[in-house]
Amino acid sequence: MENPLTITINSNLTLTASFEKVEEPSTVANYLGTKCKEVSYTSIPDANYAEGDYSYYTYGWQSDGTDQNSCVNSYQGVSTEGIDLVKAVLSDAKDKLGQIVPVNTWIFHSQLSNIETICSDYKPFTDDFSCFDLGVIAAATVTQYVLHNGGEFKLSEHFWRDEEQNGNGYKVAYHEYFHIHQNSHKFYFEETQNFGINMSQFSKVDQNKGVNLVGPVWLEEGGAEFTGVWYSSLKEWVDYKEIWTGYLDEARSVISDAASRGDIVSLRDYETRYTIEEVESSQNPTGTPREFAYAYSAGGLAHIYLIKTGKTNLDNVVSNYYLNIAELERDHVGEGYKYAFEKYFGMPIDDFYVEFDEFMLKSREEQISILELN
Ligand SMILES: [Zn+2]
Repeated sequence: MENPLTITINSNLTLTASFEKVEEPSTVANYLGTKCKEVSYTSIPDANYAEGDYSYYTYGWQSDGTDQNSCVNSYQGVSTEGIDLVKAVLSDAKDKLGQIVPVNTWIFHSQLSNIETICSDYKPFTDDFSCFDLGVIAAATVTQYVLHNGGEFKLSEHFWRDEEQNGNGYKVAYHEYFHIHQNSHKFYFEETQNFGINMSQFSKVDQNKGVNLVGPVWLEEGGAEFTGVWYSSLKEWVDYKEIWTGYLDEARSVISDAASRGDIVSLRDYETRYTIEEVESSQNPTGTPREFAYAYSAGGLAHIYLIKTGKTNLDNVVSNYYLNIAELERDHVGEGYKYAFEKYFGMPIDDFYVEFDEFMLKSREEQISILELN
């Protein structure tokens, strides 16, 4: 039951968004601990009430303060450096973005950690008692299946052990924290201060291969990448301009490589994992897969473009869009993200696709100037 969404980026990193699950309230002080010892709930609790297609929940951790907890489970082969890196990110990200669910972190070494130990610790946090395979993994999410125990975050040592990666581990960890931020708010209603789950809509999205509640994949991944790089650069963990100039070149390469086969790239092609799989595999109508990871590179650049052209601002991009998406989705089932996009990113999403696709065909110099990367 792992890996409904696995995306290969730069051919050697795999970013995975996965579905997990859950378990009884325990009392833990507000802390950034080193062991995720106890689950809040041993099974999915009963809803407080149901209304329409929604079931509403108020969780124990909302009132005892443990929604502010982050814990780090680390295993054999993980250096102090890795643990410190994850803790530094969890702490800074909570500060910058807020936190409305407990965050359970699992960090390990792909070769040296013992999978049995990890799985025996991990299983109580999942509702189907599955585990995960050790590998190059950076993954985080909050799903309807695990929400009662908070968000979940997994990271393997590849992301910090290589000095040539230049702070990449911080940026990747921040990116993953942002997925917890995005996906916790998609359930949360600020006014009633509770969480609502519309199960029938979730299965409809799955069946119809529709756009996820939080928005298109390029927005979810690009937003995480933009935010991860932005806040990591403020801490001087990474070089913002260097990273985005690199991503611009990658995105331009996706476009020119595809164009050589008459394959026209649009950001719209990166709305769901199904459409991405199609263009990035031999299912591509041209028979040749596109170069990878435009959802990340162009998705991140799209956020910078929206800000630099004055259509939106940092608060909307990192916060307001997500804080209001649950409400807008309830009012406009299946289309909440479109309303949120228009409200917080300054234009209808369909118009944005046209404008951004045109922008991506401009000269590199012009792009650098518009994005203020010079
Ligand atoms: Zn991601």
